[in-house]
Amino acid sequence: MAGMTSAAPAPHTLLTPGPTPIHPRAVQALTRDMLGHMDPVVFALNRDIQQGLRDMYGAAPDTFTALLAGTGSLGMEAGFANLVESGDEVIVCANGSFGHRMAEMAARYGARVRLVTAPLGEAIRPENVAAQLDDRVRMVAVVHGETSTGVLNPVPEIAGLLRGRDTLLTVDAVTTAGMEPFHMQAWGVDYAYTGAQKCLSAPPGLAPIAVSDRAFARFHARRSPTPLWYADLDGLRDYWVHRSYHHTVPVNLHYALHAALSAALEEGLEVRQARAAHIGQAVYRTLEPLGFRHYVQDPAQRLPTVLALRLPAGLNDAAVRAELRQREISVTGGLGATAGLIWRLGLMGESARPAPYRTLMLALEDILG
Ligand code: PLP
Repeated sequence: MAGMTSAAPAPHTLLTPGPTPIHPRAVQALTRDMLGHMDPVVFALNRDIQQGLRDMYGAAPDTFTALLAGTGSLGMEAGFANLVESGDEVIVCANGSFGHRMAEMAARYGARVRLVTAPLGEAIRPENVAAQLDDRVRMVAVVHGETSTGVLNPVPEIAGLLRGRDTLLTVDAVTTAGMEPFHMQAWGVDYAYTGAQKCLSAPPGLAPIAVSDRAFARFHARRSPTPLWYADLDGLRDYWVHRSYHHTVPVNLHYALHAALSAALEEGLEVRQARAAHIGQAVYRTLEPLGFRHYVQDPAQRLPTVLALRLPAGLNDAAVRAELRQREISVTGGLGATAGLIWRLGLMGESARPAPYRTLMLALEDILG
């Protein structure tokens, strides 16, 4: 029988809007000796992770935080699976692929979805949310940074509409938490999630979540258990708080996320935010003379962690990206309606660094020049 081939990938410049290059400290952490998921050292590490996540999300001191063993989409699904019951009215803000994914998931868990949309490349308007809001709405769900178009949605303003109401707020923080300001407690967010491979630059496979007390109360008032046993909030709390077995957590990924999260918090979230903005501006200044233009027209609506650029006339998207890939550089094109029209460059975690972008610029000058 022929042996399996195992070509090690060449050194690569990864500039996609996720996954991002793994932080060197997380790479090292992955190689630590394996321990059991019920080991006291792992429980201590988990407790540290929980506190780090509270800091990252700007959550209250007693907010429940945890890692789900899956990607960002599991974080998204767990929110609807735990907090929505059949027949619930749910407003979903959808101005791109990930907002529509939320709407699809909410519907699968029985929600009656009221969609609030915006043209591609534009942010959700809070007044359009207000227009759909009434006392029957049990939850509002919004993507903070819509990766598919590079748009930042006005989460604080949408949260403001819900003050004094019994309406939960679910926020997709996949391209923001860990790099952009996120103030779960101050804004009044009830459920937030991200993916390890985005702003934290940890390996994919974990979804850090934060759940408010109000969301827990809603969960405990369910008429029937959540259909998603794997991410049942009480099951997660059994493991993360009461230290009893629920499922086998991926301990080595916990090591890596712990290392990446502590590196992020040591650097400081404001410093990381400034780093993304600074590198993004420098990249734009270099690409503008080649004919690239911002896709999002309103500067206030631009997501600092994903630079969405309209391509120069005549640039063959597929051919140029294939040529870049030949040179071990990855950039991402548009999704759906923007395919062939835009590129989306990641400025999250370790991708927001000068060196990889210098590599891209030199390659592009060579290919286009
Ligand atoms: N939400 C947003 C805003 C995303 O950008 C992504 C992935 O790119 C997801 C959700 C889904 O995350 P994952 O691909 O990790 O499941």
